[in-house]
Amino acid sequence: MKLYYDFHIHSCLSPCGDEDNTPNNIVNMALLQGLNVIALADHNTARNCPAAMAVGQKNGLVVLPAMELTTSEDIHVLCLFEQYSQAARWEAHVQKTRQRVRNRPEIFGHQRIMNEKDEVIGEEPDLLIVSSGISVEEVAALVEGYGGIAVPAHIDKPANSVLAILGALDPGLGFRMAECAAEGVTELPRIVDSDAHYLWDIADAVHWIEAETCSAHGVFAALRRMCASAPGSRNL
Ligand SMILES: [Zn+2]
Ligand SMILES: [Zn+2]
Repeated sequence: MKLYYDFHIHSCLSPCGDEDNTPNNIVNMALLQGLNVIALADHNTARNCPAAMAVGQKNGLVVLPAMELTTSEDIHVLCLFEQYSQAARWEAHVQKTRQRVRNRPEIFGHQRIMNEKDEVIGEEPDLLIVSSGISVEEVAALVEGYGGIAVPAHIDKPANSVLAILGALDPGLGFRMAECAAEGVTELPRIVDSDAHYLWDIADAVHWIEAETCSAHGVFAALRRMCASAPGSRNL
């Protein structure tokens, strides 16, 4: 079956994410757009994923837990997982490497953690957009070790992309899929996401993947098949 997706949406936990990007608002907007699956990918954290996943489950939207990691080179890498427990373990790993810089909400914005009723249950005190200590050379294998898929984010964009910073997407980095709106930029299988920081930026139902079931498991199996079709890829 065709599943319409948007695998890169920020919530109000990202300092740059709009305060209206609450778990319920994101899920409801995605459903209005006709999407079947989304991934919630905040900067260097997955802590609003449990709420979004619970709201998604109640309303018939598959929500994958995810994170947009900032590598030590300031490259953004989308880390997609099937289960929250995997994302949480990955986050614990990332936390240990992250620079500690206090957030200043009046400048960078609030970083709110919410429950499935959109109630604020916490606020991250340290700024989430700073780089981690994880290098782009190790991230693909590391994320794979936690059961996820690492996807270099918005590679056709000038800011924080692997192409802008390294000049090339070396096959030795181990990525088997890329997030890229433009065609002809990479030979890797491509996903096209919104990188929405505002509700109105969430994707229309345009890009889809072929999955056997409309479930996190089905979506992840479909993503793994795409990765396995990457040039020079070994089977995952
Ligand atoms: Zn980014
Ligand atoms: Zn992003």
